[in-house]
Amino acid sequence: MEPAFTLEARDPSSRARAGTVRTLHGSFHTPAFMPVGTRASVKAVDARDLRELGAGIVLSNTFHLMLRPGAELISSLGGLHRFMGWDGPILTDSGGFQVYSLAGLRKISEEGLEFRSPYDGTRFAFGPERAVEVQTLLGSDIMMCLDECTPYPATREEAESSMTLTLGWAERSKAAWDPATGLMLFGIAQGGFHRDLRERSAAELAGLDLPGYAAGGLALGEPREVMLDAAEASLGVLPESKPRYLMGLGTPADILDGIRLGADMFDCVMPTRNARNGQLFTRTGRMNIRNSRYRDDPQPPDTGCGCLCCRNYSRAYLRHLQAQNEPLFPRLATIHNLAFYQDLVRGARKSLLAGEFMCYYKQFLDAYRGGTADWPARPPAAVSSRQGISALTILAPRPEPRGHRPAALRPGTAWPQGVVFAGG
Ligand SMILES: [Zn+2]
Repeated sequence: MEPAFTLEARDPSSRARAGTVRTLHGSFHTPAFMPVGTRASVKAVDARDLRELGAGIVLSNTFHLMLRPGAELISSLGGLHRFMGWDGPILTDSGGFQVYSLAGLRKISEEGLEFRSPYDGTRFAFGPERAVEVQTLLGSDIMMCLDECTPYPATREEAESSMTLTLGWAERSKAAWDPATGLMLFGIAQGGFHRDLRERSAAELAGLDLPGYAAGGLALGEPREVMLDAAEASLGVLPESKPRYLMGLGTPADILDGIRLGADMFDCVMPTRNARNGQLFTRTGRMNIRNSRYRDDPQPPDTGCGCLCCRNYSRAYLRHLQAQNEPLFPRLATIHNLAFYQDLVRGARKSLLAGEFMCYYKQFLDAYRGGTADWPARPPAAVSSRQGISALTILAPRPEPRGHRPAALRPGTAWPQGVVFAGG
């Protein structure tokens, strides 16, 4: 049998690499960005749009699908691929992160999780075995082990006990998984923001010899440097021979840094959620299409983009659609933002195959941070990097808001002096 992961290129001056992952529903190239379809739908677009955007794999969510409409129902209808009309690879997150977000509605023990459904208050018990069972019913090409997401901030003791719990759950997940189904199981490294715990978690997880691994528990509101340091600690130990998924990151700069640190797979709600809020990613920074400066602007959102939106429509038209609350707006904006993210990782892959990744990294970020975006700049500061890029000065990210701060997108909003936002 062919191996599930083939490494095709390595960057000589960082840990970045390009490869191919084979699943039951076809292969996808890495680095890969997975559009997020939490409830079996990437909001505002359909499976045909995703194919046209060149998405190699999409992500959905075990927790939400188990509650609504139910894994057994989806299974009786032929599985998740048929249900959502997507015949390519699907990864499902296990639900640990969603339960983590239900503070007050959950109880965590060694056995597993107990929680009340956010939909109707019904009590559920959910353990690693059930997480594998549900994902098998869905037919996920890549299933994730149930993990406990260590909160930020957390004490060392909390991070360590959460890490130990997650490792025990990974062992139980492996025992519950039937490799003969052809569905892959990935383990999730935790360890909070303590380097040694991160490294230990990754090393012990690697001992389980699973088909792939992820670094989880990041992008919880910690400073960007702290996030990258923790990601590096996990990615540095997870095996070279397996695909590595950096969960929940992030901005275009986060993704490029994740690639530089050796991650192969990414997911984030940012391109889709921000699109619906009127924020478009462009090669010269982020654009708030609600800004009055676009009222009579005949240019496409991003002159360097070849997506359906940019080929056919102007900034002025998009601003009008947004202002009038036309349903076409979220669709076009989502198509563009996803095209931008697919172009970002495709460009990284191309540069890796050509042996020019760090060149691409620097050029992309120079243009993105130095461009004509709507966000105010702050004085550049040098950020030291642990590996491979000592010859380059990397500018600190602009103080941009994360996707969940839509109120901050209003034109003319001033950022308080000295406030530093994670991301870029
Ligand atoms: Zn576009």
